[in-house]
Amino acid sequence: DSNLNPAYSFENFIEGDCNRLARSAGYAVANKPGGTAFNPLLIYGGVGLGKTHLAHAIGIEIKNNNPNKTVLYVGSEKFAHQFIDALKNNTTNDFIHFYQMMDVLIIDDVQFFSGKERTQDVFFHIFNHLHQNGKQIILTSDKPPVEMQGMEQRLLSRFKWGLSADLQAPDLETRIAILEKKMYGNGIELPSEVVEYLAYSINTNIREMEGALTSLLAQASLNKKAITLDLAKSMIDKFVKNTAREVSIDYIQKVVCDYFDLPIELLKSKTRKREVVQARQIAMYFAKKMTKSSLANIGAHCGGKDHATVLHACRTVNNLSETDKQFKVYLEDLEKKLSIQ
Ligand code: ADP
Ligand code: MG
Repeated sequence: DSNLNPAYSFENFIEGDCNRLARSAGYAVANKPGGTAFNPLLIYGGVGLGKTHLAHAIGIEIKNNNPNKTVLYVGSEKFAHQFIDALKNNTTNDFIHFYQMMDVLIIDDVQFFSGKERTQDVFFHIFNHLHQNGKQIILTSDKPPVEMQGMEQRLLSRFKWGLSADLQAPDLETRIAILEKKMYGNGIELPSEVVEYLAYSINTNIREMEGALTSLLAQASLNKKAITLDLAKSMIDKFVKNTAREVSIDYIQKVVCDYFDLPIELLKSKTRKREVVQARQIAMYFAKKMTKSSLANIGAHCGGKDHATVLHACRTVNNLSETDKQFKVYLEDLEKKLSIQ
């Protein structure tokens, strides 16, 4: 048994800018396990961004293409516990042989090995054996190798042999597509404004976004209510309050554009029309103030500007709010709208 979850297929994995490199590297590995430069393939990224899903997808694809290959998915925690059991029972050789027999070994969340010297040691030997024999190793982690603490140098250096590809938080369109795919798969239909609101509101963790969808459906069915935008808002606001959250750049852009009655595409474009430039600067200002995004990331969302442009925008907005009363009113208005979302 490979421990693969068929729901976590490539087919169900929505592609976006946030995951393009990792996804295509994963796909390459799936079609030529052990035969690409991506060995090991290390997928890293924050919680709920699709590491486990993508790791399964690769395993599933390999199994589909070559039913005879031995593919094993294992969480690093389980691996570590099995190893301790093997130590207790004097069966470490069996343990090692078992893992060395795999054609494809997928270990999820390797950051869990940090500080566990003997586990790292045994994994080092398994890794070497597999790699020398042209077997494929796929790892996931919450951090890239350079930031992993408590991991032996020789292991880290091997992690860097292949490719490390990251998963970023998905943008709004990708989040909507993920929700729609999930709904479609489960035969659920919702008004598009509800789907969009969900995707706007929960922007850093796909698992949480899916959780909000599930509890929304549960509440509506318990109370026999239709799922309207109002119901969604009241439910999601409660849901989101319990999960520390920051507003997203997308949401800020939407609120600012609604306020000035501008299409959001213009704000994201490179246009220098005066009214757009000002709205864009205001969006940058709030993005810097209300999110943890880097200046570079804010700039990238706002017409592909660099970090210096974002800094300049923030200064301009600050200066204007001190000299222009009407402008200050706009800003305060907007800030209220953004904080009670
Ligand atoms: P991680 O392992 O990084 O914490 P998961 O792989 O468990 O995250 O993903 C969390 C949830 O989000 C899963 O239900 C997964 O199916 C879903 N998900 C993540 N990325 C995508 C994507 N690109 N397309 C569709 N669903 C996704
Ligand atoms: Mg995971």
